[in-house]
Amino acid sequence: MAESVIPPVPPVTVPVVGGGTFPVRRIFCVGRNYAAHAREMGHDPDREAPFFFTKPADALITGGADMPYPTMTSDLHHEMEQVVAIGKGGSHIAESEAMSHVWGYGCGLDMTRRDMQAEAKKLGRPWDMAKGFDKSAPISDLVPAFDIDPGKGHIELKVNGKIRQTSDLNMLIWSVPEVISYLSKLVELQPGDLIFTGTPEGVAACVKGDVLEGSLDGVGIVKTTII
Ligand code: MN
Repeated sequence: MAESVIPPVPPVTVPVVGGGTFPVRRIFCVGRNYAAHAREMGHDPDREAPFFFTKPADALITGGADMPYPTMTSDLHHEMEQVVAIGKGGSHIAESEAMSHVWGYGCGLDMTRRDMQAEAKKLGRPWDMAKGFDKSAPISDLVPAFDIDPGKGHIELKVNGKIRQTSDLNMLIWSVPEVISYLSKLVELQPGDLIFTGTPEGVAACVKGDVLEGSLDGVGIVKTTII
């Protein structure tokens, strides 16, 4: 076998509650998936099919590690989200089969350079540098699916102990099975893929020193400090 010409990149992994690690392949994020958040961003939630963007796997921050305030922005926003971990790949997955492709769940923060995203929207440019920058995805440890219902559960984000975002997964416009089915028509899902299912209303700016602590009932806690 030909030898690697530079040292191979170690796999990105997320700790699993109770032991072990989940190797991450790709991160997909749903754009607008709560009506109240779509409205706060100036959109009509009733007329839009789900849409997706991605972050690189190594954008993840695990274990409550600090998040450096990113370069090239002065408007870093938090987006608290449910995360679905795919254990079995597939394409054109039927909604009725979608749950059998889920390994487990977590919760995470889709951190966003909002000023850069606004400019990208205005100019019709990609969102990659607004969304997929280094350390843009703090995430909780993951829990195996067992009997978790991904369609309900309180989701909340506190910043410095004060509630900034609060909602329930029953407010999702596109359910987890619908998201998996739709996404699997666009790409062949693979074991190790993560899906951030969108944020509820209440997104806002963070500054250095802020302590972000998000929780999803029955799933876990994501924590990071902006430094
Ligand atoms: Mn988001």
